[in-house]
Amino acid sequence: MGELNSADRVVVVGAGLAGAQCATALRGGGWRGRITVVGEEPHPPYDRPPLSKDVLLGKSDSTTLDIDFEQLGVELLTGRRATGLEPGVLHTDAGELPYGSLVIATGAVPTALPGADRAHLLRTLDDALALRALLRPGLRLALVGAGWIGAEVATAARELGCEVTVVEAGPAPLPGALPAEIGSVMTAWYEAAGVRLRCGAGVAALEPGAVLLEDGGRVAADEVVVGIGARPATGWLAGSAVELDAAGAILADGTLRTTLPGVWAAGDCVSYPSARFGTRLAVQHWDHALQSGAAAAAALLGSDAPYDPVPYFWSEQFGRMVQYAGRHTAQDRMLWRGSPDDASWTVLWLRGTELRALLTVDRPRDLTQGRRLVERGARLDVDRVGDPAVPLKSALAA
Ligand code: FAD
Repeated sequence: MGELNSADRVVVVGAGLAGAQCATALRGGGWRGRITVVGEEPHPPYDRPPLSKDVLLGKSDSTTLDIDFEQLGVELLTGRRATGLEPGVLHTDAGELPYGSLVIATGAVPTALPGADRAHLLRTLDDALALRALLRPGLRLALVGAGWIGAEVATAARELGCEVTVVEAGPAPLPGALPAEIGSVMTAWYEAAGVRLRCGAGVAALEPGAVLLEDGGRVAADEVVVGIGARPATGWLAGSAVELDAAGAILADGTLRTTLPGVWAAGDCVSYPSARFGTRLAVQHWDHALQSGAAAAAALLGSDAPYDPVPYFWSEQFGRMVQYAGRHTAQDRMLWRGSPDDASWTVLWLRGTELRALLTVDRPRDLTQGRRLVERGARLDVDRVGDPAVPLKSALAA
């Protein structure tokens, strides 16, 4: 059993999806020793994707993961915050926890706008319930950031009858993630939903009842939500031997092992080397939390299989299912499969003829097939692949 003997205690820090998945996989993988999961929030582990969707819409109040920790023999310590780490000892706000092995899965925290204390952020169940209580017909809601979260909150708020304005510093939605050519197609989605989108508009300040823009503009707002990204929740590791990158992500190796022996990391807080994509990746999406949580458990139990899946995420916005798999760079060739004027379309990114990534809008079959093709490093027939009538898996290079 790798570096461990069964008398060891595994402590998992962070009771989110990655932490919960790790604890479950440890038991499933045969770990018989003590497992303790420590989480800062008062809730047992829950799913976050519904927070900006069904929870805001009032269709769901709880997204608790269906895991019986007691039955698994996993000790769950909620409402307890890790404050520091030294070899063999986790410090928390309620005393020390000695460990044999440790998995860090403390996730990420949303980036706040300086000086915007009154603005809402959306990360936790409590954030979502507090925001939901404010959303009502006619409420003037300003959203800072046309990213994934911004688009989803705008969708829900419109459905609830709010007057929504989205303020985005970049030239189009999702400036960090997608080329402006795709972002500008998405601009039409905002318009059609009755959301006012102001791109190229940096926020200068918030004042009661308004967002002031750098260009002198003013957006009247009863409430403001900021969705400008999230950074790894790793501040508590300051001074420990766990090395972080410049963005605060934990620098792990290919099996999610950190620079402190006996300590692994998973989920939104980790950066790992991807041989598949030839670079380090720090992924802040649900599927990665799930898979890396299980992979950290397997590594802790002795597996040396590298963690290197094809990253995947989805977003539900303006009545559309948007999905992405793989990783593209500005050097990859972008190819439309279908027209952006159609109700559904796909964009492919190719390196030479190799499929590296794809974005699909209401084309789930493309996503499923494309994800497998990226996994296989498949080469595509570029003359046929642009035709949406040809199944992706049938458009392979000869
Ligand atoms: P988290 O879920 O953040 O869990 C980490 C836990 O650790 C938290 O409970 C935190 O309180 C706790 N913690 C932090 N610091 C400490 C500490 N010092 N001591 C103890 N505990 C600590 N992804 C998709 O692919 N599709 C989607 O549609 C989608 N929608 C999303 C919608 C919202 C509103 C949000 C916020 C995220 C969404 N995501 C989505 C992203 C996805 O939910 C995250 O990638 C995933 O939750 C990451 O899981 P995690 O376990 O790494 O981190």
